[in-house]
Amino acid sequence: MSDVSGSELRALMARVPSVEKVMASAEFAALLNEFGRTQVLTALREALDQWRVSAQSGSASVSALDAAQLQASVEATLRRRNQSRLRSVFNLTGTVLHTNLGRALLPDEAVQAVVKALTQPANLEFDLGTGKRGDRDDLIDELICELTGAEAATVVNNNAAAVLLTLSALAARKDVIVSRGELVEIGGAFRIPDIMSRAGAKLREVGTTNRTHLKDYAEAIGPQTALLMKVHTSNYAIHGFTKEVGVGAIAPLAHSHGLPVAVDLGSGTLVDLSQWGLPHEATVRETVEAGADLVTFSGDKLLGGPQAGLIVGRRNLIARIKKHPLKRALRVGKLTLAALEPVLQLYRAPEKLVERLTTLRLLTRPADEIRLAAERVQPFLQRAIGERYAVATEPMFSQIGSGALPVDVLPSYGLVIRTADGKRGGRQLIALEKLLREMARPVIGRIADDALRLDLRCLEAADEAQLVEQLKGTHA
Ligand SMILES: *Cc1c(COP(=O)(O)O)cnc(C)c1O
Repeated sequence: MSDVSGSELRALMARVPSVEKVMASAEFAALLNEFGRTQVLTALREALDQWRVSAQSGSASVSALDAAQLQASVEATLRRRNQSRLRSVFNLTGTVLHTNLGRALLPDEAVQAVVKALTQPANLEFDLGTGKRGDRDDLIDELICELTGAEAATVVNNNAAAVLLTLSALAARKDVIVSRGELVEIGGAFRIPDIMSRAGAKLREVGTTNRTHLKDYAEAIGPQTALLMKVHTSNYAIHGFTKEVGVGAIAPLAHSHGLPVAVDLGSGTLVDLSQWGLPHEATVRETVEAGADLVTFSGDKLLGGPQAGLIVGRRNLIARIKKHPLKRALRVGKLTLAALEPVLQLYRAPEKLVERLTTLRLLTRPADEIRLAAERVQPFLQRAIGERYAVATEPMFSQIGSGALPVDVLPSYGLVIRTADGKRGGRQLIALEKLLREMARPVIGRIADDALRLDLRCLEAADEAQLVEQLKGTHA
């Protein structure tokens, strides 16, 4: 860049139009209408300042000062600035309940209910029978009890909150007996020992990492014991020489001492998944029937609903939990309740669940159907990313995710991208992964075994069409 002489620069600067004149131009009318004066003015001043800086280094063109060009530049800035930070992506990771991508996708019934709750007043805490103040749990506790066989229920912000609240209400300053094999850490910051101390309860570990016996629980029970707890080892499995005591065995022991058993089920499915060929996972009802006095589970894992923590169990224990001051701090909002109710209602028609509940539909999607989708998308992807890469349709395995059934995998299909020259091409794949992530609707896959893998299990028809459109508009 050549520097500009003083007189040239003064002449150039004199060409900068007045802000007011540009704002009043016909070109800016639509922008002002859409974005309002404040942010248009700010963006315009920034554009003109930037032009002045370029002018000093001799790299500014006078035509960039036309109202039409300024309009285009200001519009681009404002569109970029006002784009939502929470963006839709394509989840082609193969993990159906992906915590970082928002876990369960909700069925349309739930979406419509949320829209209504957002735009119309509702009887959130208003008893339409008496005209008096109501309890938000009343909206769905009967339905939860019907589906789980429990006596009572309450709902909080997530399952971590459900466990924290349960322990705070029932075990503060007392002992909670847990097997050493169940002291889990769930992605991020949920660790049973930490939650226990936050709740003011004392962790009384029993057994060993791989083996815990009923007598270990029996010997630990003392005057300080508040409850016996079992935690679903959601995200890992211990194999080999192992022994775990089931709820069915712990419950009679606890009850003979007048103590309750609490179970943190994690995913907490409401139906037996084995009827759809998925691995069996103890349902909430089975856990209640086995003798658990309290069961906590997530709303947005296998249940397929919004983020929430459900607590079900004995009426007197739920009543104590609801009275604890933390309940108020951890309660759910109306949007959560609005979304949860229609999702739970779907479970009343179990034979329709696999069509209607998005999570279950994705988990049970036939591999052949996914293969056909992959074969349809393949040529568009190949064209978009160019000849430096080779795209193939190949079998692969999806995961349920969110710590549900960590060792079980679902046969699936997807697009596997390798470098066309057959070299390992780590850098090239990382560059491609980034390119896909920077698309208008980002495509999220995963790199493994020298290939970028896009599992199409979660790409249903409407998304497939959108992905193809996006790929058509992309040229390597
Ligand atoms: C997932 C999980 C949690 C945390 O649930 P969130 O709903 O994510 O708060 C707690 N315990 C177990 C066993 C889990 O699997």
